[in-house]
Amino acid sequence: MNSTLAWANKWQNFESLLIILLAAHAGPHLCLGAGNGTTVSTVDSPPTSSVNPFYTANRQPLTPSPLIKLPIGSIKPEGWLGHQLELEAEGLTGRLPEISKWCKFESNAWADSKGQGQNGWEELPYWLKGYGDLGCVLRNQDIIQNARKWIDAVLASQDPSGWIGPRRLTNSLNGQPDLWPNMLMCNVLESFYEFSGDPRVLPAMSHYFEWLNRLPAADFGAGYWPKIRLGDNLQSVYWLYNRTGQAWLLELGDKIHQNMARWDSGVIDWHNVNLSQGFREPAIYYQQSKDVKFLHAATSNYETVMDRFGQFPGGGFAGDENCRPGFGDPHQGFETCGIVEFMHSFEMLAKISGEPRWADRCEELAFNSLPAALTPDWRALHYLTCANQVQLDRGNKAPGINNSGTMFSYSPFEVYRCCQHNVAMGWPYYAEELWLATRDRGLCASLYGASEVTAQVGIGGKVTIGEQTDYPFSDTINFRVTAVQPVRFPLYLRIPQWCAGATVKVNGKAAAHTLRPLAYAVLERQWKNGDRVTLQLPMRITVRRWEKNENAASVDYGPLTFSLKIGERWVRYGGTADWPEQEVFPTTPWNYGLVIDAMDPARSFELTRKPGPLAPQPFTPESVPLELKAKARKIPAWKLDSSGLVGKLQPSPVKSEEPIETVTLIPMGAARLRVSAFPVIGEGAGAHEWTTAE
Ligand SMILES: [Zn+2]
Repeated sequence: MNSTLAWANKWQNFESLLIILLAAHAGPHLCLGAGNGTTVSTVDSPPTSSVNPFYTANRQPLTPSPLIKLPIGSIKPEGWLGHQLELEAEGLTGRLPEISKWCKFESNAWADSKGQGQNGWEELPYWLKGYGDLGCVLRNQDIIQNARKWIDAVLASQDPSGWIGPRRLTNSLNGQPDLWPNMLMCNVLESFYEFSGDPRVLPAMSHYFEWLNRLPAADFGAGYWPKIRLGDNLQSVYWLYNRTGQAWLLELGDKIHQNMARWDSGVIDWHNVNLSQGFREPAIYYQQSKDVKFLHAATSNYETVMDRFGQFPGGGFAGDENCRPGFGDPHQGFETCGIVEFMHSFEMLAKISGEPRWADRCEELAFNSLPAALTPDWRALHYLTCANQVQLDRGNKAPGINNSGTMFSYSPFEVYRCCQHNVAMGWPYYAEELWLATRDRGLCASLYGASEVTAQVGIGGKVTIGEQTDYPFSDTINFRVTAVQPVRFPLYLRIPQWCAGATVKVNGKAAAHTLRPLAYAVLERQWKNGDRVTLQLPMRITVRRWEKNENAASVDYGPLTFSLKIGERWVRYGGTADWPEQEVFPTTPWNYGLVIDAMDPARSFELTRKPGPLAPQPFTPESVPLELKAKARKIPAWKLDSSGLVGKLQPSPVKSEEPIETVTLIPMGAARLRVSAFPVIGEGAGAHEWTTAE
């Protein structure tokens, strides 16, 4: 036995003793679980007390984060998520250079060693950020090589001052620099470094931040987008500090926070994308300040926005460009950029706070809103996705919708210029967060999805965990451990807020421990090759009422919201055979109110599950495996308005003399035409007579 191994064995014995001692102190949290050498407990958040030596986490004096990102490439997405990423690679993101002038290498300012040329703003780094990560997550060599060509050019463009990329940006805001596009390019470089360990990246980023640190304070408040979004750069400053330990980076961190728009004072801007990324800034700065009031400020920003504008299902809010008082109906939209940025914020907050509610929120948006923002073949997207959206025509819907012009129909082209590029990071970033490391040298299944993760755990053993599931279309998640040597480590499993009665089995033996919602189950044992864990997250039909939106109702089953299934007629109006622009019109009635059993709302619905394996792309009306049957009556006066926007909700309960019909509801993410916030049918004096608007 060599000395390292002897040390390791001693450490392991010591560690076992430590666990026993800890167990004795853990009191009600811990019980003798599965009885086969496994302890099972529940915690609100993974611990911050220990140190994980295998993965780069917050370096002192930054606040330790309970959950740590694994390097890109550690997680292999499978199942429907893997297929979604393949569609992305073969569709809009993988082939965007064919149709976007901003992604053309030749004459591009991002590709020039002197930063001279065209198209040097946010579009290229928006796309490259998702495109590069897509290549790494899929290990797609063509994409990796093409992304690398851009990254090599960007790194080669650094001038002696430290500036990277297009030179025009150094004074494009009335003589002051536009800091926004390089915030995105920093994200590109971070991912590239995590995947490749390329030695050029850290010096280049240090040099750039030295340049930034020399800027006068007033320049941090220049322009509209940069001053509001500088929290993005703050996280990059910490990312670099964790890898280099350069103390001046923390001075820069303070300088950014003090001089950018102050999200710690409340919601200071109502643009949907600014909100989706800006609201989290205080939580980013909390890592440096250590004052929990900053973490709470981000939560408070989120709650303020959702309370005023997020009163419908799907996880987003009414921000069809800007949130506007009086425009909170579910027919308002949420920009595709907003969807992916909000998801990214939730992914960051899940790690910084360790609170499982942020992962819940990420899943809600990912399953219910993101899929329907795109065509099922990933060849086009739209600007706005709405909870109630029954027709996707290209006509102008302003002023009902904030922006004028085409916002709803599907197009791959620059009509949706920001989203066209920014949508790229949605699923790759999501896939990178399925599994996270914990500080006590364990692993956490944070977002659930079929995948395989390989990571270092315990005293340094390498473990691979295969996760097999059709989640969210199934409530059962199977894990299988592959390990050359047995290794002791804690496995954290998130129990979502919606889930009462979760159960877990280890090697077929059920744990007696109650797994409460909005917590993590912790399974600690000497894991060995072939160990199996089965997590069951029972899903129930529940009805949410939206008192602030005319008392409408929405129907959930676990993390999935259900929408009325509406027949779709797709009509091409532009583009090419390869890249069509399409409108979608309803072929079946949509103006229904639900008939709901007041005493037991869930009884009003009957769930059916199609037999057979899950379709690779389950987010279509035909392929989605779950359906609900519901009782409904038509509301004849509920119509499209003159612009083609579904009429606003009116107060429920609503009168209807129409016959009761059986209607079908399908998961919201599969319904490109949908009603997700329903009027509720009622009778008697309290019931409202729907009046035709205008
Ligand atoms: Zn956009």
